[in-house]
Amino acid sequence: MNSARTMVLLACGALAVLAGTANAQRPGTWRCKRLLAEDGRSWREDIVVVTLLSDIVAIEPASKHEAVDRDFGDAWVIPGLIDLHTHLLLKPYDQMAWDDQVLRETTELRTLRARVHGIDTLWAGFVAVRDLGTEGAGFADVALQRAIAEGLATGPRIWASTRAIVRRGWYGPSPDDPAVPKGAQTVEGEAEIRDAVRAQAAAGAQWIKVYADYRKQKGGAAEPTFALDELAALVDEATKAGLPVAAHATTDEGIRRAVLAGARTIEHGGGASEATLRAMRERAVVLVPCLAANEAIVLQAGRKGPIVDRLNAAKAGFQRALAAGVTIGCGSDVGVFRHGDNARELELMVAYGMTPAQALASATTVAAGVLGAADLGVVRKGARCGFVVLGADPLVDIGALRQVRAVVREGDELWLRRDGR
Ligand SMILES: [Zn+2]
Repeated sequence: MNSARTMVLLACGALAVLAGTANAQRPGTWRCKRLLAEDGRSWREDIVVVTLLSDIVAIEPASKHEAVDRDFGDAWVIPGLIDLHTHLLLKPYDQMAWDDQVLRETTELRTLRARVHGIDTLWAGFVAVRDLGTEGAGFADVALQRAIAEGLATGPRIWASTRAIVRRGWYGPSPDDPAVPKGAQTVEGEAEIRDAVRAQAAAGAQWIKVYADYRKQKGGAAEPTFALDELAALVDEATKAGLPVAAHATTDEGIRRAVLAGARTIEHGGGASEATLRAMRERAVVLVPCLAANEAIVLQAGRKGPIVDRLNAAKAGFQRALAAGVTIGCGSDVGVFRHGDNARELELMVAYGMTPAQALASATTVAAGVLGAADLGVVRKGARCGFVVLGADPLVDIGALRQVRAVVREGDELWLRRDGR
């Protein structure tokens, strides 16, 4: 594959490949009326971004260029966004219940569908995702990641975690019946925990996802799954393989154990006490709150029953973490709701008290830091080519993230248009 090529996606209609762009060895020039500055809080005006192969090689005043390859006109250009918590192998629960997806659908069909989810993700301006569990679809996330890297499929850069690890008897469908397939890899005891980490690493996982707490029965309260020394063994085995750990945890004790064991991120995390939040801040553990999935589940339930309490609890948890100075990364848990609506997470972050600039940072610089990807999250010389062209100012109204006019990223030198022309 020629890594020299640049992909441009223009969002508006049906997907169609138009044509290749010019000689890939020649620098590409992209004029931006406004480009988000490195501080993430201001705009640089009348700028040309110069790219070569998949890299940004210069950021220059537009006055230096008589002509450019593409002029984005009156638009706001931001770095490509990152979602730290996706499930590309799931479709929204209001289209098909999670149990049915795990039990009644083939991995082959789910993988083909995930390819479309990847396209929808990219159109929405999200150029990279950390996919946190295939939910019964084995190692299909690694297959999709490699297909995208090989140019066989269009989608975001994927950091895969494969199957996720949970204690036996704690995860659906039918937690107590070992004969029923499960949505994650179930283990009991340290030896199986270490085996599972090694197997997932060998299959291509770049992160290990563990459920540090969960409910045993549908509708029940969450309880810690693993003992602290079991979680420590999991982190130890992952570290030996060079992999960081993401821990699903909603209860204070589950979060506390995951933090002490060495998890890098806490997913959801609404139940953390002040002491646990302090431990997160001191150890630089990042909170990924998944506000959008929480809202979606409540909406899908028709805003009825005890589930509605989840909204307030998640909001309060997020606000406590924000006040405590915990670093917060953008992860939506998309898959529970429609792929391409990832920006809902940032809208809720702002609704719950972040500034638009803080929310943008959570999906750019902060998220890139979590992934250890210094070449993502900012448009500057030396970074990878990846940016999003918006029709409105997201620092004024974060809802501007819904007005994606174009997405430019590394990859094939194809011009893809959705207007059917
Ligand atoms: Zn999730």
